[in-house]
Amino acid sequence: MFSQSPSLGEFDLIQHFFKAESDAMLSEENLPISLGIGDDCALLQTLPNEEIAITSDMLVSGKHFFADTNPEWLGHKALAVNLSDLAAMGAKPLGFTLAIALPEVNSKWLESFSKGLFAIAKTYSCPLIGGDTTAGPLNICITAFGSVPKGKSIRRSGATIGDDIWVSGSVGDARLTLAALRHEIGIEKTDLELIQSRMHQPTPRVHLGIALRDIASAALDISDGLLGDLKHILKASKVDGRVFLAELPKSAYLLQQSEQIQNQFAACGGDDYELCFTAPSTQRETIAQIGHKLNLALTRIGHIQAMKNAESSIELIATDGNLLNEQETATLLKSFDHFA
Ligand code: ADP
Ligand code: MG
Repeated sequence: MFSQSPSLGEFDLIQHFFKAESDAMLSEENLPISLGIGDDCALLQTLPNEEIAITSDMLVSGKHFFADTNPEWLGHKALAVNLSDLAAMGAKPLGFTLAIALPEVNSKWLESFSKGLFAIAKTYSCPLIGGDTTAGPLNICITAFGSVPKGKSIRRSGATIGDDIWVSGSVGDARLTLAALRHEIGIEKTDLELIQSRMHQPTPRVHLGIALRDIASAALDISDGLLGDLKHILKASKVDGRVFLAELPKSAYLLQQSEQIQNQFAACGGDDYELCFTAPSTQRETIAQIGHKLNLALTRIGHIQAMKNAESSIELIATDGNLLNEQETATLLKSFDHFA
């Protein structure tokens, strides 16, 4: 596929940047993979009473990332966003495949990409087990496989009236980073260096997802923005939600911005890869213990209520305790669109 690159052919490339590390990982760790890279298919060992969770995410240059993004960050993020989907279902990572189109064989780029990719793969014991490599505009597509005991997956459709709505970590920092990189807002250079990993190297909440299996009634990961994503849970569960803007967990960096920016970025900023989940109020103590054990903030931001109209909706409560009317809600969402 890479006729322009006499130095390194397709199979050498796969061997050098993907297969060697993958084989090493499979030999070092006792993972449920019978066959990794090298044959026509990889083979996953499955257990009785287990369901396999499967998810794909594609990252396209110029759309999902800047072409000159640090390839190590890219390797991390390409797998992180898939692990985040597994986490949202309560699935434990098993392995992943990588389909990649490369404009050229750039060894330095591939070295760095592979470094970021395998670092996070090892953190979550999720080996690369196959894929495809071709020449073309830079495009990275990962499919990840996870395992969850039969019937224990956390779906979007399980929220019920009276459940609490929770969110992990803090929300809005990825959006804050993007705004800073685009010079839409001012931020100290040192602060930017500290928060930009929130956009470039998100942490998939894998351990949280697994811990929530018997506790959460519904869950998803936040990729497009908290409120927009929460709507998916509400719609699938046929309920409404009420969210208190003052309760949204914000980082110290976001708290330095105007209240309007804080609310917009926390409520609607994308790329956070935190988990938003619902759970009965009887689980509050257990959830607090999980947060403590994982050293991860888990914040109750609202609750589920009965549907008022034909379509699910979210009632937003402003910092002053008043319900935002339709106009105010639209303004909050619209001023975000202006940035988008
Ligand atoms: P096939 O012709 O059967 O599709 P390929 O020649 O494309 O196989 O690939 C050879 C082996 O290398 C296969 O096991 C495939 O899964 C693996 N592979 C190809 N590209 C990648 C990649 N980017 N990452 C991991 N494994 C890959
Ligand atoms: Mg084949």
